[in-house]
Amino acid sequence: MDAVRRYFKSLLLLELMQGLGVTLRYFFRPKFTINYPDEKTPKSNRFRGLHALRRYPNGEERCIACKLCEAVCPALAITIDSTQREDGTRRTTRYDIDLFKCIYCGLCEESCPVDSIVETDIHEFHFENRGEHIMTKEKLLAVGDRFEESIAANRRQDAAYR
Ligand code: SF4
Ligand code: SF4
Repeated sequence: MDAVRRYFKSLLLLELMQGLGVTLRYFFRPKFTINYPDEKTPKSNRFRGLHALRRYPNGEERCIACKLCEAVCPALAITIDSTQREDGTRRTTRYDIDLFKCIYCGLCEESCPVDSIVETDIHEFHFENRGEHIMTKEKLLAVGDRFEESIAANRRQDAAYR
């Protein structure tokens, strides 16, 4: 009996018709796909992308070289050297993040007592030359300077949960 049913199903192309029916049903519905990069999906304000070092509004860098982020980083991606300034405060002389080691876990950001190291919502970045995957202090501060407005806005939105 099964053989007869299978024979008629294949003869009448029933499964093909069912498949075409599904295609027709979705043909006129709104599309799930987007035309990236012209169109983009919304991103969470907690998105963990490219790192940045932030400054205070007066231009002073926030980082006090406590090295908590370096200690907490599970991938050992952060390297910090520091020194004491004449006014007694500590500042980094070197702050490197190896983006090839980084797993974008966000622990550095969570551990920072002064909101200095953050992960921005930038995910469209690439490297063209050897060594560019090391984000130096200068590069991190430059990202922070450039995107401070969106970094601050994202953190304001998330402030109630911190
Ligand atoms: S995001 Fe995680 S892995 Fe990357 S530097 Fe920060 S602590 Fe390390
Ligand atoms: S970025 Fe934050 S946690 Fe890391 S050394 Fe500077 S102040 Fe400390």
